[in-house]
Amino acid sequence: MSNEDQLSLFDISANSASTPPATVSELIPTSAKIPIPPGTYQTMTQMAEHCNQCQRCGLGKTRTHAVVGRGNLQAPIMIVGEAPGQNEDETGLPFVGKAGQLLEKILASVKLDLEKDIYIANVNKCRPPSNRVPTTEEIAACRPYLLEQIRMVDPKIILLTGATAVKGLTNDKRGITKIRGTWIEWEGRLCMPILHPAYLLRNPGREQGSPKWLMWQDIQAVRAKFDEICNAG
Ligand code: SF4
Repeated sequence: MSNEDQLSLFDISANSASTPPATVSELIPTSAKIPIPPGTYQTMTQMAEHCNQCQRCGLGKTRTHAVVGRGNLQAPIMIVGEAPGQNEDETGLPFVGKAGQLLEKILASVKLDLEKDIYIANVNKCRPPSNRVPTTEEIAACRPYLLEQIRMVDPKIILLTGATAVKGLTNDKRGITKIRGTWIEWEGRLCMPILHPAYLLRNPGREQGSPKWLMWQDIQAVRAKFDEICNAG
C-alpha cells in the first residue's frame, strides 16, 4: 500500500471530529488495500467479526452471512473449498448442503470425523451471486483471511476441493483432473487437490475411473498419509 493510499484511509470525511481515528487493524474490513499481516488475529472469533462486516470485495454487499469455517480449530486436516452457496450463506456454515453431506460420508468412509479431525473453510467467505466462480480480485481480497486461518489451525494436511481452491491458495492454475490425487507442497505444508463433492453429485457413476472412484482412491491416500504422520509424531 502506498503512503498516499494509507493517508487517504484517514481522511477527515471518514473520521469526523467526534469519531476517534480508527487503527489500521480496525480498517481491515473496509478495503483490500489494508494488509492483513500474519498474526493479526488471535482467535477465529475475532476474524469472523471482521469477515461479517467486511467489504474488501463486492461480495460483501450481497451476503447474508460470511461463512468462516467449522470443525476442530486444532484439526490435523484442513479442507478448503471455493465459496459459500445458498445454504451456507443462509446458515453461516460451510458445506452444509448436499455437497457437504456427501463430503461427510466420504470422510466417514475412512473414519475421519468432520468435528474432530477436520477444520473446513472456503477461499472466499461470502457467496458469489448465482454461485458464480469468484473473480481473481475477490479471491485476492479474501486470501489473507484464509492464510490467517491456516496459521491459526496449523494443519498437517490441507485438502483443496476443486480448481478454485487450488488456484486461490497455491496459485497453481492447472486443471483439477490433472493434479487431483497428487501431493503438492505449499509453504512447507502437504496439500492434496481433490475433486469437489458437488462435481461428484453431478457425476454419480461408480465405475473405475469415474469421479467417485477417483475420490475413493484419493481419500484412502489421505487416510494413509494421516496415519503415517500420526505414527511418526
Ligand atoms: S468475500 Fe472475503 S474479502 Fe470479500 S467481502 Fe467477503 S470476507 Fe470480505
